[in-house]
Amino acid sequence: MDSKEELVKLLSSLIQIDTSNPPGNESELASFLKEWLWERGIRSEILEYEKGRGNLISRIKGSKGPSLLLLSHSDVVPADPARWKIPPFSGIVRDDCIWGRGAIDMKSMIAVEAMIFSEMVDKDLNGDLVFAVTADEERGGSGVRLLLEKNRESIIADYVLNEGGGEGILTKEGWLFDIQTAERGVFWYRISTRGSPAHGSIPGLGINAIEKMIPILNRVLTFKREIEFVNPSWKYVESLLRMTGLIRGVLDKNMVEKALDELTKIDKGLGEAAKSMLKVTMTPTIIRGGVKENIVPYECELTVDCRVPPGYSKNDVSKMINELFQGLECEVNFIQEFEPSSSPIDTPLYKAIEKAILSEVPGAKLEPSTKTGGTDSRYFRKMGIVAYGFQPLKVEGNYYDWFRMIHGDNERISIENLIFSYNVLKRAVESFLS
Ligand SMILES: [Zn+2]
Repeated sequence: MDSKEELVKLLSSLIQIDTSNPPGNESELASFLKEWLWERGIRSEILEYEKGRGNLISRIKGSKGPSLLLLSHSDVVPADPARWKIPPFSGIVRDDCIWGRGAIDMKSMIAVEAMIFSEMVDKDLNGDLVFAVTADEERGGSGVRLLLEKNRESIIADYVLNEGGGEGILTKEGWLFDIQTAERGVFWYRISTRGSPAHGSIPGLGINAIEKMIPILNRVLTFKREIEFVNPSWKYVESLLRMTGLIRGVLDKNMVEKALDELTKIDKGLGEAAKSMLKVTMTPTIIRGGVKENIVPYECELTVDCRVPPGYSKNDVSKMINELFQGLECEVNFIQEFEPSSSPIDTPLYKAIEKAILSEVPGAKLEPSTKTGGTDSRYFRKMGIVAYGFQPLKVEGNYYDWFRMIHGDNERISIENLIFSYNVLKRAVESFLS
């Protein structure tokens, strides 16, 4: 079997192991990979901190150079079979694509990294090469967090290569790829309003907590921030707008806002993603209130997903939230808080990645960015370790449809893209470690 066939087969097998989180069941996938590596003469270990939530780790020793961790997560978000054209855990190959939950996020990268790792075992490596497939990323990253807390020496490396960036957009001026060198801050908070219960037939006797939530919800929904020219995202968005011919010459904020609206008309996915990267966003995601049909609700809770560009501290976010709800009676509590994280770009890994993508796609441009969402890279960046998100894939069709497959329906990856990912990353890893 050649590497292409082997990669396709490996990805199909990984998709067939249902690791929907919750509950995860990542240990089954870890055992499968342990066996797969063993057949290739590579020892690995499974570290399980919670039953069924296994993390797989393996390390190939190099000489004295900087070490590199190939990181991925094995859990996926759930999939509703009723909404899919094929069963989401079939891993079926159809129309030159491999179909199933995790095909992009991120079992294809597990397959690619596993393959590259297994091919490095008998090479003379400059530094250690580590392979880690971790649990529970989709619900907050406890696999990586626990590994760093309890078995740091097994996973630690000088550089980390993870998911997050690497998407290639075909513009009028050629391919533009991003590399995720930083991440937006993630602040999830819950706002509660309190009232007092009464019989639902005489509403005037109680205080309705849902009613008190209305102005709060309105302020969240009408919260609008201007774009901020903050790097690294601005560097990426500027290239994107220039390469699509939407801006030229000297820029001001107004022109850029207009160009972003124009981009949104052409491709809603690209436009909205670019706007979100450059702004503070607040999205109401859960609302709960009331206990029974005939009781005036005395409690209501609203959960908001707030994301901020690099440069914002927890204090800045608290201040912004206090100002937003000024004059309204409510209580705000953070339920998850991660300040933005970033890595420098003048590093040998960045150079290796740039060289690799330019060799595979001559004339392409690579720009650092934050992307919009978060990844496990933040845990490493917090420790001063350089972590990049780079899962090279050429976006096929428009970005809107592409992005909606991730955590959405009918997720799939073309065989061509899978091989492309493998070719680019193999070059990058080889040149970094040689
Ligand atoms: Zn992911």
